[in-house]
Amino acid sequence: TCTIVWLRDDLRVADNPALAAAIEHGEPVVVVYILDEVSPGIRPLGGATKWWLHHSLVALSDKVRRLGGELILKQGASADIIRELLRETNASALYWNRRYGKPERDLDASIKEYAKASGVDAHSFQANVLFEPWTVRTGNDTPYTVFTPFWKSCVNRPTPPRLPIPAPTEFIPPATQPASDELDSWNLLPTSPNWALAFDHRWNVGENGAHQALERFFDSRITRYAKGRDFPSEYSTSELSPHLRWGEISPFQIWHATDEFRRKMGNTPEITTNATKFLSELGWREFSYNLLYHWPELATVNFDARFDHFPWGPADPDILDAWQQGRTGIPLVDAGMRELWQTGYMHNRVRMVAASFLIKNLLIDWRIGEAWFWDTLVDADPASNAASWQWVAGSGADAAPYFRVFNPKLQAEKFDPKGEYLHRYLGDYEHPMLSGYPEPIIDLLETRNRALEAFKTLGDIP
Ligand code: FAD
Repeated sequence: TCTIVWLRDDLRVADNPALAAAIEHGEPVVVVYILDEVSPGIRPLGGATKWWLHHSLVALSDKVRRLGGELILKQGASADIIRELLRETNASALYWNRRYGKPERDLDASIKEYAKASGVDAHSFQANVLFEPWTVRTGNDTPYTVFTPFWKSCVNRPTPPRLPIPAPTEFIPPATQPASDELDSWNLLPTSPNWALAFDHRWNVGENGAHQALERFFDSRITRYAKGRDFPSEYSTSELSPHLRWGEISPFQIWHATDEFRRKMGNTPEITTNATKFLSELGWREFSYNLLYHWPELATVNFDARFDHFPWGPADPDILDAWQQGRTGIPLVDAGMRELWQTGYMHNRVRMVAASFLIKNLLIDWRIGEAWFWDTLVDADPASNAASWQWVAGSGADAAPYFRVFNPKLQAEKFDPKGEYLHRYLGDYEHPMLSGYPEPIIDLLETRNRALEAFKTLGDIP
């Protein structure tokens, strides 16, 4: 007999409640990760997240080995694989950390039911969000749809988020491990062409890398965070998003490390401002999960139903291609889309500008942009990506006003005044003769006016 720990979006050994409970249970521990792209409703991973997942599993395998175990890799329908594993190992317990998307919850519920019916102690834990969506309700007992009161009600709770659980030092493996796939056989890495060549230099994937990113943030970035986070040429943000996406670090660890850092620095007003702002961005992640939980179709259905009849233009393949390749002739948009190609990441300010350009200047349905980011971002997240695209479109909960159209030229002047970010990704873009920099594919003013006309179909524009 043994205890099975099924890891999913929680590829870490520290502050992992399911793993900690399994070790506590006292029986040999089997740790499994399942690549499931076949169960109903599960969205297949994008290319960039697959790249991340590969490296994250390498790092996790190493961690698990150091604890005395082995990470078992399986591919296929989770329910079938878990059933088979329970039988094969004669497990008495099955533990996992909770997920919040609807197809995942349905799948987990059915597996839990099956396990319990078979006499297995099946148990799930809170690990990847600070505040579980069903615990944050308005005075009218409804889910929050506005960020500020949502976050206020979270941070004003009488008890703060629980302390992180320390990393285990060892556990007992079973006498015989179940068979595992070879990670390479999953083909998660791109080959022809290998578009992820430069990712290796940019990212330190895995649990250790996640904690190094957090340390780096405290060492050299947090003191500029509140002001600097809008300037894409600066490295002022934490770049923790892909680590959080795969749960290589938990929000509990980040929350308490930030609190501790604040205390260590003497709680000065400057540190407090920056730390509060940083935690509130983590709050946007919580808010996005709150939305995903209550509105499971966040990635495909307009939160604001008025958008269901919005006259999106045709997604002209050449125009869409120019946006995807970073060849729109609009420097800030192109720099962002090229950052995305080169690193699998894009600065938040530029994400907003590039998304607004697609939705408003090109009048292309936000879902097409969401799908592109899903495929190309290393941090592509089922909650944050969908919520953010709807936010930019104006169709979302607590969204940007739809009639506000970002002007990429003014945004560049304001947030990249020396052109450093543009230079980083476009080179000598100011000299078309040298670099062949393209003419703008559209006229910004004309398309802005066209968007405002289209928005009139939604009703009153203030
Ligand atoms: P920091 O500024 O250091 O913030 C710390 C953490 O807070 C982030 O790692 C992230 O987990 C969370 N966070 C910050 N801003 C947001 C936000 N607006 N919404 C939700 N969580 C946030 N973020 C993703 O994690 N995955 C996505 O797929 C994603 N898609 C986006 C698509 C668009 C169109 C836009 C405008 C934003 C998107 N974001 C997404 C939000 C945001 O851009 C990134 O979280 C942020 O840029 C990550 O960089 P960072 O880790 O340095 O952030």
